[in-house]
Amino acid sequence: MTGVSSTEPSSAADRTAADHIWTVDEHLDDILRHFAPLAPADLPLLEAQGCVLAENVILPAALPPFDNSSMDGYAVRTADVADATEDAPRILKVIGDIHAGLSDLPTVHPGEAARIMTGAPLPPGAEAVVPVEWTDAGTGAGPAITMRAHSADPSGAAGEVRIHRPVVPGGHVRARGSDATAGELALAAGTLLGPPQIGLLAAIGRARVTVRPRPRVVAISTGSELVPPGEELTPGRIHDSNSYALAAAARDAGADARRVDAVADDAPSLRAALAEQLTRADIVITSGGVSVGAYDVVKEALGDEDGMQFRTLAMQPGKPQGFGLIGAGPTPLFGLPGNPVSCYVSFELFVRPAIRTLMGIELATRASVRARCTSEITHSPKGRRQFLRGWYAPDSTVTPVGGSGSHLIKALAHANALIVVAEDTTEIAPGTDVDVIPLMQ
Ligand code: AMP
Ligand code: MG
Repeated sequence: MTGVSSTEPSSAADRTAADHIWTVDEHLDDILRHFAPLAPADLPLLEAQGCVLAENVILPAALPPFDNSSMDGYAVRTADVADATEDAPRILKVIGDIHAGLSDLPTVHPGEAARIMTGAPLPPGAEAVVPVEWTDAGTGAGPAITMRAHSADPSGAAGEVRIHRPVVPGGHVRARGSDATAGELALAAGTLLGPPQIGLLAAIGRARVTVRPRPRVVAISTGSELVPPGEELTPGRIHDSNSYALAAAARDAGADARRVDAVADDAPSLRAALAEQLTRADIVITSGGVSVGAYDVVKEALGDEDGMQFRTLAMQPGKPQGFGLIGAGPTPLFGLPGNPVSCYVSFELFVRPAIRTLMGIELATRASVRARCTSEITHSPKGRRQFLRGWYAPDSTVTPVGGSGSHLIKALAHANALIVVAEDTTEIAPGTDVDVIPLMQ
């Protein structure tokens, strides 16, 4: 299927053993080898924002397309104003107004000027524009900043203007092709389309553009305890936050994401919900039900699926993970753990890179930086890579936020980074440099 290759599981024989404990990197590599950029699609320009260009865009015409004024002023022949000074201004006959968008241009003959506005085409005969500030603006008085209409008749002669300074040929003129020439490469395939690139594409007349489209992502929470936000809680129940956090995170990653209502811990219900979503998504994410409890519904519903694997990872949070390609597509399914922090951290580490790969973004994983940890970290589990929540400050320090509990969703919401504590590190003294993954860019 497009964007996903259903090759056999990782070749390393030991990894196929049921009791193999996967490192974070092994699990990510094993996931990413199933993903490739989605087939290009032709999208309306604004819908392509944040997408990667899948074509080389060539300039069909010069930019700007014609010589035009960069100032409000007077289009002149430079020889006419070569000797102009404050004390001895040159007086030129004003033959009319040229506003932006005008196509029927008057010719400027010796001794003449045309009043011209910013962006208006330079008329034939004129070689430069004298800014209005260097003239009397046609008032017959000294220099003036504001421009006054010369004549009620836009095509007719419009009086005189006093020019106080000379201007060089091309002065205050934006020459045709001075930004880019026809046939030049405007944007190369592979470019991420941010606002300036969208602006350039519009400037050269493109209403649509060929890009790697946004992957369609569906987030489904599992859990009989879950109640949608907006509904009252009854004893023992909690609000479903994961499907919201996941859909938001997937959108943030660039996907076209949505959520569906939580499914109870009942395998047939989950299979039915998945059957409905699998054909409508490039990635399906479930939360909950992947550990070793009695009601681990994702494991129960999908445990026998050929393409599905449930794994133990050497990480905290996020130890139980499910991943596989299922259904007729097949469609990649991420079975993330249910604890809200585990779920979100798992998304950041594994799902986000998959989404970015489908989008054709070369650096699919978030960059990490080094930062000085302001406080002590203790009891980091040996043999597991720990991802603590932290606040990364502009002075390259990081401060842990909340503890290691994977239910601490408020602390997560007050963090902007993950602090990475390596597998073999169990303690970090204050002032030590640590790896940090900022989450905000
Ligand atoms: P599970 O992985 O299904 O065993 O869930 C682990 C913990 O996460 C339990 O305390 C669940 O109640 C909680 N949890 C699971 N799914 C969600 C969800 N969608 N929103 C909030 N909490 C959840
Ligand atoms: Mg559950």
